[in-house]
Amino acid sequence: MITVIGSLNMDLAVQMGIFPKQGETVFGEQFQIIPGGKGANQAVAAARLGSQVNMIGCVGTDSFGETLRTVLQQEHIHTENIATASVPTGIANILLYNNDNRIIVVPGANYELKPSHLEAVKEVIQQSQMVIMQLEIPMETTDYALKLCKEANVPVLLNPAPAANFEMRWMEEITYITPNETECSLLFGDDFDEVLSKYPNKMILTLGSDGARYFDGEYPNHIPGYMTNAVDTTGAGDTFNGALAYALVEGQSLDEAVYFGNIAASLSVEKFGAQGGMPTLGAVYARLA
Ligand code: ADP
Repeated sequence: MITVIGSLNMDLAVQMGIFPKQGETVFGEQFQIIPGGKGANQAVAAARLGSQVNMIGCVGTDSFGETLRTVLQQEHIHTENIATASVPTGIANILLYNNDNRIIVVPGANYELKPSHLEAVKEVIQQSQMVIMQLEIPMETTDYALKLCKEANVPVLLNPAPAANFEMRWMEEITYITPNETECSLLFGDDFDEVLSKYPNKMILTLGSDGARYFDGEYPNHIPGYMTNAVDTTGAGDTFNGALAYALVEGQSLDEAVYFGNIAASLSVEKFGAQGGMPTLGAVYARLA
């Protein structure tokens, strides 16, 4: 069982041919309401590949919260440990332009996920084969989750997004960390070779269409991305993380798991929406063949 401790958001996505300048109003081309949040996305990515997934998070009492629960249940994700708070469900306002994205997140109920809730569901966390986290929840909750995982020797995969919510002291408690280039520069500096060699077999740096890199203790490894025609890169990192966790829990080596993550993520960018393009195991194997 994989447990995801993280955010659930409703993504409000606008596709546009032109970005508005300050004070300007433009017409968008398309509007969609899509389930998202890094936590829920990574949960769906792992579940679609066949992992048993338990989601821990917090939603509001509104219709967005209800829909988000239902959508996860349809993916066979356990939702009984998702808490409810009396503030609105988190939303993400996504602007899509030219295969690029700009995102504003309003955390809402995600910031009501408190350590006391983790304590209440501690057995589920401590019996997991792996815990996946991102940083769209309060920092004190991340702290507490890491403490519970350490107590029970549960491996942790941390995707440090948004980077501003990261604490360097967590590096000791984390088994794997998966920054993209922006997050890596912000948190660890621009000399990626040096940074990666400092955290062998722990830091996996994702490089967009270029794939991912890590240092295996002896050599630097670059696992190239799968060349494809990207239509929407929202959720590429989430698919990569969910797939990486799936593969590691299945017993794959880090090398194989990163390769598997690249393939899964390349499939996800071919379709619109974060969860929409996340592949099944069959689709990943078809591309691996
Ligand atoms: P994030 O989405 O978190 O910013 P990246 O952009 O580094 O992270 O993408 C994460 C992973 O998704 C990459 O390591 C790669 O496997 C895959 N990926 C991203 N963009 C593309 C693309 N255009 N083509 C193929 N794979 C991609």
